[in-house]
Order: sequence, then C-alpha cells, then structure tokens
Amino acid sequence: MALLVHKYGGTSVGSLERIEAVAARVARHCAEGHRVVVVVSAMSGETNRLQALGLDLGGQAVPREMDVLLASGEQASAALTAIALKGLGVPAQSFLADQLPIRTDSAHTRARIEHIATEALCDALDGGVVPVVAGFQGLAVDGSITTLGRGGSDTTAVALAAALKADECQIYTDVDGVYTTDPRVVSSARRLPRVTFEEMLEMASLGSKVLHPRSVEFAGKYGVPVRVLSSFEEGPGTLITLEEDDSMEQPLVSGIAFTRDEAKISVRAVPDVPGVASSLLGPVSACGIEVDMIVQNLANDGGQNDFTFTVKRGDYDRALAVVRDAADALGAGPVVGDAKIVKVSVVGVGMRSHAGVATQMFAALAKENINIQMISTSEIKISVVLDEKYLELAVRTIHDTFGLEGAEGEG
Ligand code: ADP
Ligand code: ASP
Ligand code: MG
Repeated sequence: MALLVHKYGGTSVGSLERIEAVAARVARHCAEGHRVVVVVSAMSGETNRLQALGLDLGGQAVPREMDVLLASGEQASAALTAIALKGLGVPAQSFLADQLPIRTDSAHTRARIEHIATEALCDALDGGVVPVVAGFQGLAVDGSITTLGRGGSDTTAVALAAALKADECQIYTDVDGVYTTDPRVVSSARRLPRVTFEEMLEMASLGSKVLHPRSVEFAGKYGVPVRVLSSFEEGPGTLITLEEDDSMEQPLVSGIAFTRDEAKISVRAVPDVPGVASSLLGPVSACGIEVDMIVQNLANDGGQNDFTFTVKRGDYDRALAVVRDAADALGAGPVVGDAKIVKVSVVGVGMRSHAGVATQMFAALAKENINIQMISTSEIKISVVLDEKYLELAVRTIHDTFGLEGAEGEG
C-alpha cells in the first residue's frame, strides 16, 4: 500500500470521457489499497484559449489578472474530476491552491512554490477522501493568485509529493514515457525505461516539454521518485532515478532536446574594452529578459568584437530595441537579429567520461550541410543554434548518429 500522487495533463483531462477514464484509474488504485492524491491541469487548449483572451485585451501589462484568468482552467478540471470520482462512488474533494494553501513568491505568471500546507490533504486522506488539487496555481503573500509558468502542473504534483513524502509521483500524459527525443518529431525515438535526474533536468530545461523543468528540480532536491506514464494505456513508463546505475554502461548520449522558442541578436564592431558585455546585457536583464547563450569573438585587429546572444522568441522585439539603444551609447556598429533560429541539444551523463561527442555531432550536421551558428557546452550537454528550417533534419540526423533508435531496454 503506497501513497501516490497522480498528475494528469491537459490531453488526459481533455474531454468528459477522458476525465471519466482518469477517475476510473484513480478508483482502481484506491481499490488496490493505495492512497491517492490527484493533481490536474486545465483541459487541453484551455490555458491557450484563456491566455489569448487576456493578451488581446492587453493582459501583458496586468500579470496579476492574467494569473486569475489562467488559473481558472485548473479550477474547472479539478471540480470535474472530483465530480467524476464521486460518480464512481469514490469520496473526493477538489482543492484550489489558496485552499491548502500552496504558497509561492509573487512573480506572477512564473511563480515559484515556497511552501505547501498539507493538513487539509492529510485530513482528507485520513477520512478516505481523494483530494483533487488544481495544478499550476499558487497563492502569493499578498493574497493574490499566481501561476507557475506554462507546464507548471508537473511542479505542483512533484512539490506535493515531496511535501506529503509520497512513495511515487506519477505523471500521466499523452506519451508512455520519456523518449530519446520528442516522438512526434522522430518516429523511431525510443522510450527510456530510466533516465537520471540530472539528464532529465537538462532535457527539460533545454526544451523537452514532457516535464516542467522545476518539477525535476524538486524531484532532485527532495528525492521524490517520479515516473512518467501514459494516461491512455498501462505500462512501466519512465522512472527518473536519483542515482546513476553503475551496473549499466552509460550511453554517450541519452537524449536530444530542442526548442523552437529562440531568437538571436548580434552587435557588430563592439569596442574591445572592459565593461562592454555588462553595458549591452545589463539593460536587457533589467527588463526581465533572460539571456541564454552568449558568444563574443574578436572580429578584426582593430580591437573590435562581434557580440551575439540568444533570448526567447517572445522577448525578441523588446530585447532588440533595448540593445540597439545600448549599442548606440557604446558607439558600436549595427545590431542585427534573427528570430528564426532553433536550439538542438544532446544530453548524456556518459559524455563526462568520453571525449569526442561534440566532434561526432558536428560531423553529422556537416554531412547534411547544416550550418552551426552558435555552440555551447557543459559537462553533460552540447547545444547548437541552427536555422529553424533544419530542425527536424538535425534532430533525426543526430538521433541516428548516436544510435538512439532501436529496441527498448528493460522496463
Ligand atoms: P501534458 O499536457 O500531459 O502535461 P505535455 O504536452 O506538456 O503533456 O508533454 C507531453 C509532450 O511532450 C509529448 O506529447 C511530446 O510531444 C513532448 N515531448 C518532448 N520531448 C519529449 C521526450 N523526450 N519524450 C517524450 N515526450 C516528449
Ligand atoms: N494548464 C497549464 C498550461 O497549459 C499548466 C499545465 O498544463 O501544466 O501550461
Ligand atoms: Mg505538460
């Protein structure tokens, strides 16, 4: 008998039929003697719909109200799931974030969970009631509703599992586990029976949206066993493990992540003097824009550099305007940008002990005539920036190069 947190994503609660299927699984696990806490996302498409409505009215400038709006999607699915459970004769009760509460900081639309009060959940569980918690939402110290960033229901689930010391956090979604890369892009992608928490953190942060990056952070920090599973069929899914399995030889590359959400800005002929990077990027960060990759190289002997960095595509226009002003003030050359780039990354703890992964990856891209615009590396990942038209080809090529397709390992 275990304490389980089940999390169901948008597609898994996308219709009344799907919600009934969710209720049936929860009922089955309860009948097997487990105690279950359910976390739900909004029905698929609902958060996009609400976001578009708010943004059309200028909601970008009113993040507090955007959060009230966005959080309503999860409120509806929590209630519907509780109703469906009761329909099956399973005692259930919905909980909104402010009813527990789930405390967050005040960073609207990207808040971080700070504390979860578990008393109400424990009381419900002790009384044989299944709590159905609205994912993605939180409560700031000033009493306003927050949301955790798109995809954030995963983080609600793992944080709850940590707070309740659950035996496992089961993330039910529309794929049957974590794959070597997005199976919607590479059909020969393979389900990974296990993936280390470190690799999963890199993959999630580098764009594999199967798990919200902060949920993986929580799993690592609090040692929560997380399993990604299909809500449509039974199967072992993928276990996110905290320890590397010494008995198994680590593959060089475990997975490939990518993101289309990128844009690049270059400042030409920047004077090669101290303080330049900070003069260019300071104003960008001051606007709350996150900078990802940065490359600077000496362009000529006259003491001038080219300075290039990437930002999220949604921040591109704002970043370009800010950097143009900063470049003028520095007496630098023209500022040029490209919002049609993508980032492709290979991830694997096996890279630590093996050189040559980068060379192999670059050679594979060269063979397909794919130009690499920027490169960044860390101990267990290599990322390249490419023209967006090469995304699918690049991912497939790299997937083949590292032999990631093929039969599944042990489940
Ligand atoms: P949910 O609504 O259940 O939270 P998401 O759409 O957020 O589901 O995440 C699941 C999706 O993540 C899959 O449908 C798949 O297209 C995508 N994905 C990206 N990378 C991977 C990967 N490496 N393994 C599995 N799925 C991935
Ligand atoms: N409904 C929210 C979103 O679409 C949160 C989630 O699904 O995890 O981003
Ligand atoms: Mg998701």
